[in-house]
Amino acid sequence: MSDVEIIGLSKDFGSFVAVESVSTIFREGTVTVLLGPSGCGKTTLMRMIVGLEKPTAGQVLIGGEDVTRVATSKRRMGMVFQYPVVYRGTSVARNLELPLIADKVSKGERKKRIDEVAEILGITDLLQVNVDKLDNAGRQKVAVAREVARKPEVLLFDEPITNVDLTSKLELKRALKSVFQELRQTIIYVTHDQTEAMSLADDIALMNDGKIVQLAPPHVLYHEPADVFAGWFLGNPGMNFLRDSFVIEQGVLTSPFLSAPVRVFGDAGRAVVLGIRPEHIGASVEPNSNSVEVAVTSRSISIGGQALLELELDGHGFKAVVDHGSGKKMTDRAWITLPPSKIFLFDSDGRAIVATLSGA
Ligand code: ATP
Repeated sequence: MSDVEIIGLSKDFGSFVAVESVSTIFREGTVTVLLGPSGCGKTTLMRMIVGLEKPTAGQVLIGGEDVTRVATSKRRMGMVFQYPVVYRGTSVARNLELPLIADKVSKGERKKRIDEVAEILGITDLLQVNVDKLDNAGRQKVAVAREVARKPEVLLFDEPITNVDLTSKLELKRALKSVFQELRQTIIYVTHDQTEAMSLADDIALMNDGKIVQLAPPHVLYHEPADVFAGWFLGNPGMNFLRDSFVIEQGVLTSPFLSAPVRVFGDAGRAVVLGIRPEHIGASVEPNSNSVEVAVTSRSISIGGQALLELELDGHGFKAVVDHGSGKKMTDRAWITLPPSKIFLFDSDGRAIVATLSGA
């Protein structure tokens, strides 16, 4: 196992910059998920790390050794792709064994590794089955098992559960989670799905426009987004951003969204955007001493018995998530409360401002 360090890694396709001078360290023995919207450069970054794409600039180091010019086959990395890559017409066991034979692993060690990885992935009963008889999810487990059994220094996964049906997705995700937990290998995992990222990652490297905008454990990314993009991308739906909706004077914030002024501790003078997550907005049918009246413009039921409300105040549209029972009663008006401790402030570049807010 090793750290993977990338220094100033860039990739241009003609005049288009797919990855722009990215520097970071993927820590040894941890799972780092590259998360971001389609086209933000995740796959290109991963392909440069594994050696399938030549960087325009920058370096890739594995365990401190510069491998930028080393061939993929010599990088001691394993990779699992979106579509399962297996040796058709042979058994699952043979699929796992062939690369180990090529790596000159002894017979006893081969058996030990195959049994161990098959058990973790729940495919022990399938070892003698021909891979052609398996569905996509089964074949993907074989592809994962084969790479894991080789014990590479680093394992890379490029959207490995994107192309399986919903039920198999959950099963594969569980299987991957147990592989990651049992083996503690250095893993870099690409996905555009935040739920997948949240459940598998030790750290998430959130990407946008060819750059990593924040690298942090999932709960930090959710609770302390570095900028408006991170606030918006994480969450379902993402954070609300209210511009021109407040004033901060002498450390006191006033806003039509708050029933009373709020104290701000920190350098918040540059703040131009107020952020609040839909699930942190309290909404009720009746007013109370802390609430503000808003218009309900639309209501829909989302999963988990929750209702998504679209609300409006002073020409600002925003969203709130409430339990379905109370949501049903909010037909055209609702009374909202914004807990000061859940309010975020951002500057004109969209960067988060470190500040603490509390009731005055
Ligand atoms: P997705 O999840 O859709 O695969 P991604 O974040 O993995 O997105 P990349 O596949 O890395 O994104 O692509 C980043 C950008 O680079 C995209 O705009 C893509 O069209 C472009 N790109 C990727 N490979 C090439 C190539 N070989 N030639 C030209 N442009 C490319």
